[in-house]
Amino acid sequence: MTTGLPARPAPLVLAAPSGTGKTTIAHALVEGSVDFVFSISVTTRPARKGERDGVDYEFVGRETFLRLAEGGELVEWAEVHGNLYGTRRRVVEEARDRGKHPVLDIDVQGARQIKERIPEAVLVFVFPPSGEVLRSRLTRRGTEDPAEVRRRLQTAHREMEEVVRFDYIVVNETLESAVARVREIVTSEGHRVSRMLGLEGEVARIRDDIERILADA
Ligand code: ADP
Ligand code: 5GP
Repeated sequence: MTTGLPARPAPLVLAAPSGTGKTTIAHALVEGSVDFVFSISVTTRPARKGERDGVDYEFVGRETFLRLAEGGELVEWAEVHGNLYGTRRRVVEEARDRGKHPVLDIDVQGARQIKERIPEAVLVFVFPPSGEVLRSRLTRRGTEDPAEVRRRLQTAHREMEEVVRFDYIVVNETLESAVARVREIVTSEGHRVSRMLGLEGEVARIRDDIERILADA
């Protein structure tokens, strides 16, 4: 940071219609980075082939999920495509305490709750280049059958309207450019005056310097 002032890391929320590529972007950001940590969500959705409990998601039963929600342990939660998904408050706070940005790969309902509860969070809406590209990414991922792909496209049609509630848009054309744009956003946000810790002391230090120079001249 050019000011040399520390800023408390903000949660980075990546939301987008399913199939746009937010999970891919989130993992690319986190991989080999000391600044970002993936926020592992709790879900009642059954694990897909290749998904690992405690790595991709924390897979739980509906009863456990509702107990966590009622106990106030989730900073946000929502029902998406018939399953419950939520973010543990502890996961977000621990990352921030360790000086890292928690990266939340969540839906638009969850993003809205995060902004209400953590106003300093940075909300990025990942934009598909076109409806056709979205359809093709959803189909090629091969994790949903054609009926489910159609259902997700219907949800996407509705979710696109939510973009106005976000702070930034990043079009996921190529993965490299999308990841670079997200990094730029986080870097710029780190320079926000409102995020600076110890700003008053730093201002006083420079003013003292100037006063000494003026007195000596
Ligand atoms: P989401 O998390 O938004 O549902 P995923 O990250 O699972 O989406 O991505 C959906 C599919 O699109 C995956 O098969 C992924 O490999 C592919 N994908 C993601 N980003 C890109 C990109 N920039 N270019 C081409 N394919 C992509
Ligand atoms: P999938 O089942 O494809 O992994 O995820 C379906 C949707 O749920 C995606 O839009 C994903 O971002 C969202 N999601 C994943 N984790 C969470 C979470 O913790 N909270 C909310 N609100 N949505 C989530």
